[in-house]
Amino acid sequence: MNKVNIKLYDTKSGKKIDFVPLNENEVTIYYCGPTVYDYPHIGNFRPPVFFDLVHRFFLALGYNVKMVSNYTDIDDKIINKAIKENKTEKEISSFYIKNNEEMLEKLNVLPLYNRPKVSETMDEIISFVQLALDKGVAYKAKDDIYFSTSSVKDYGSLSKMNLEELNAGSRIEVTDLKHSPFDFALWKKTNDEGIKFDAPFGVGRPGWHTECLVMINKVFNKPLVDIHGGGFDLKFPHHENERAQSMAIYSSPLANYWMHVGFLTMGESEKMSKSLGNVIYMKDFLNNNDPDIFRLLILKGYYRSPLVYSEEAIETCKREVEKYRNIKKTSNLFLALNKSDKQGQLLKEYYEPFINSLADDFNVPNALLHFDLLVKNLNQAIRSKNYESALNLKFTFDKINDILGLKLATVDIDDEILNLYHQYEKARLDKNYALSDELRSELVKKGVM
Ligand code: AMP
Ligand code: ZN
Repeated sequence: MNKVNIKLYDTKSGKKIDFVPLNENEVTIYYCGPTVYDYPHIGNFRPPVFFDLVHRFFLALGYNVKMVSNYTDIDDKIINKAIKENKTEKEISSFYIKNNEEMLEKLNVLPLYNRPKVSETMDEIISFVQLALDKGVAYKAKDDIYFSTSSVKDYGSLSKMNLEELNAGSRIEVTDLKHSPFDFALWKKTNDEGIKFDAPFGVGRPGWHTECLVMINKVFNKPLVDIHGGGFDLKFPHHENERAQSMAIYSSPLANYWMHVGFLTMGESEKMSKSLGNVIYMKDFLNNNDPDIFRLLILKGYYRSPLVYSEEAIETCKREVEKYRNIKKTSNLFLALNKSDKQGQLLKEYYEPFINSLADDFNVPNALLHFDLLVKNLNQAIRSKNYESALNLKFTFDKINDILGLKLATVDIDDEILNLYHQYEKARLDKNYALSDELRSELVKKGVM
């Protein structure tokens, strides 16, 4: 298709802007991953599923996609859990990383280019903190090392937080050790029983805001990616602080586009979160539901808006997944029964507006209108036994669904199944209804009809 003009809403510029990658035909993306101290809840998967759509979209346009997300496996919450359960931090983090990976696989999230862990990036983090001290943008306050936010002229420009208001409302931690209330720890000295690391500036643990920047620098060999993403809650202070360090130390904005995904909420406004105790763990959700239902729920909402989780929303998605699976099933059978050597063609009248809707800052609700029209016309083509039209519509259906990433698991129609189907048709023609009913239920059981 013709060159696609991609527009993304960039939090830093506060508007939709043209996407121009750092390297032609390549896109580098980093989104912040979870702290692995507990089972992840369904809200935690809104960013990974959304960025999987981004991944698939760029792949479909022929980009080489380098999608990266981290695991925070060094953290006080992990240490506390390890103490509580009489285990090592490594045992705790490995267990929850494994669970997270299983969930991502079930949700059909494509493998990432790299999945760095804090525990495997300690040398680089320590060197980075030393560099910050050497450059004079960090200072020692008693035993800890703090970053000096006043070393960055435009501190606050990413999240657009009203810093004065924040300060006055004392929504940020104030200690007399800090030069400014916005300064944050790069390194905290400790002699507690938790895991700790040797550094020239003391035995301790790193601050959270440093790890992502160091991992980006390590994985991509420079402190700059095309797109940096995460949930809305990460804009401030996490992303503001990541960017501030990168500006102060490397004079690099860390990302050319900052994309933030809205919350999954319980009811109209309540963020799903462990601290509010209103979470549904993904493992429990997937025990009772097809992963496609969750994926469709996430895709159907506009990614920057809050998305309300409700039983009704799940029921609607369930019906829609069934609708997509049914058309896939019916068209597979129809095409197998009428097999020819012809290759399907990509139908631009559906594919292009679908892609163009996604290119408009991932307007999935719009894109799905074109997909739904295609589904309707594919049904129609099968009903009117228009083989060629069905072949092209099905080909286009598959191409679009490669981007949506729904599994829509169906059986492959092999000779044995075709044979069964022919017997069923014959029984029907012979008016042998007992046999045709029996064969039909066998085909249904096999997931063919
Ligand atoms: P946390 O468990 O708070 O460290 O969050 C890990 C990731 O999940 C971060 O990118 C958060 O922004 C994201 N996240 C947490 N809760 C939600 C939610 N209710 N909706 C969407 N994203 C969330
Ligand atoms: Zn991060």
